Amino acid sequence: MADPTAQRIWNTALGQLQLHVTRPNYDTWLKETEGLRVEPGNFVVGVPTEFVKEWLATRMRSLVAQVVGAILGRPTEVAFELLGRNGHQNGHQEATLPLASAATPVQTVITSPATPPRLNPRYTFQNFVVAESNRMAAAAACRAAESPGVDYNPLFIYSTPGLGKTHLLQAIAQRATQRKQVALYLTSEQFTNDFVTAIAQGRSDEFRRRHRSPQLLLIDDIQFLAGKVRTQEEFFYTFNDLHSNGCQVVVAGDRPPASISGLEGRLCSRFQWGLVTDIQPPDTETRLAILKAKAADQRVDLPQNVAQLLAERAPDNIRELEGLLNRVLAYANLIHVPVTLDCAARALTALKPAVATPLDPNSLLEAVGAYYGIPIPALTGKSRARPIAEARHTAMYLLREDAQLALKQVGLLLGHRDHSTVIHGVQKVAKALASDPRLSAQLADIRNAAANNNHH
Ligand code: ADP
Ligand code: MG
Repeated sequence: MADPTAQRIWNTALGQLQLHVTRPNYDTWLKETEGLRVEPGNFVVGVPTEFVKEWLATRMRSLVAQVVGAILGRPTEVAFELLGRNGHQNGHQEATLPLASAATPVQTVITSPATPPRLNPRYTFQNFVVAESNRMAAAAACRAAESPGVDYNPLFIYSTPGLGKTHLLQAIAQRATQRKQVALYLTSEQFTNDFVTAIAQGRSDEFRRRHRSPQLLLIDDIQFLAGKVRTQEEFFYTFNDLHSNGCQVVVAGDRPPASISGLEGRLCSRFQWGLVTDIQPPDTETRLAILKAKAADQRVDLPQNVAQLLAERAPDNIRELEGLLNRVLAYANLIHVPVTLDCAARALTALKPAVATPLDPNSLLEAVGAYYGIPIPALTGKSRARPIAEARHTAMYLLREDAQLALKQVGLLLGHRDHSTVIHGVQKVAKALASDPRLSAQLADIRNAAANNNHH
């Protein structure tokens, strides 16, 4: 079983990784991964296939280690481990009931039809906080799930990223599935890929059967259909077919249909047949309510002042808001302190330079010297007096982590020390960091100072 702390840390890491890799790369390599365990000096990530494992291990190991290390506040290695084949370790469910299995006799197909994406079990109506900014969309979504094809058909929901579109679409799918309806949730990219693959393999009939049999079709991120003429054509027929059979169609996009350039007129006008509604960024009240709900979900009592601090930091994006909360909870959990304003503030600064550009080594040395009040010649000199040695260890740690120097270079800069001395110093600081939250706040101050006198 994955441990919840590891999962939380990994969710935070994924949030940051998303900002550093392209969307297709994220979807291909990172989306299906899970945080399994925190071990001393090592973080274990579960991956779905051997292929993904190899790719991540060779291409992304250091980025991942850096991001996780920043969250943990200490240097960390990462290991990738294969998840059990059927191991939906965190209880993901399939998006649909088995589809058309009677209609499709058992075949020995080489490439099995694309499996529908797994739904996030947390994306339910119950977990969706309804407020002024999303009331209309939430009500319409609920209605679509409970009386598919009756009122708003199609339903088109749009907003800027991170405001709950995917959450609502998946909530519809899960509610419908509970009600023994067949719901198919797909992003427009998956629809495209399925379609292209089906054509290439001469299995377009099967594709049609699959996409035209559900009682609810939920298409996410429709904007990615822009410019894809043949897929749009297929989607148009699919839509007509389903709609005329009373199937509920729900579509989410990043803007209203008429503003998606590269979307065919006839498709655009179909989307406007039903209800087009938006989700607005949440106001402060709503952000606070969402934070409270998410914390309660994790059985954490979130103090009001902490909630306020977080709500101020992520004004227009609930995904970021959640990311901040997860960081703070992971941090508090890791160092075994209650979630206080002080701890939250530290967590946010300690985590800030996640994947920053390397700091300049000389600026760092200067900042360390200034912070501890020790002249640079003393730092690089022979004295082993306690305060000097401590400052020197800190310098080693920061030169290694933040300036990303090789051990050898660190040794050279600090008065020709050998590489085992440097390892020793770095480890000492890393260990201290794990038990002393004050230290990470100090390091954050030194980093800030170094960044400010980055004059080289
Ligand atoms: P979008 O698809 O619009 O980019 P998502 O549906 O992925 O946004 O939402 C981003 C995150 O914010 C998700 O984790 C989701 O659960 C959460 N979220 C968004 N709106 C709400 C809400 N009203 N209540 C609770 N969580 C929400
Ligand atoms: Mg989305």
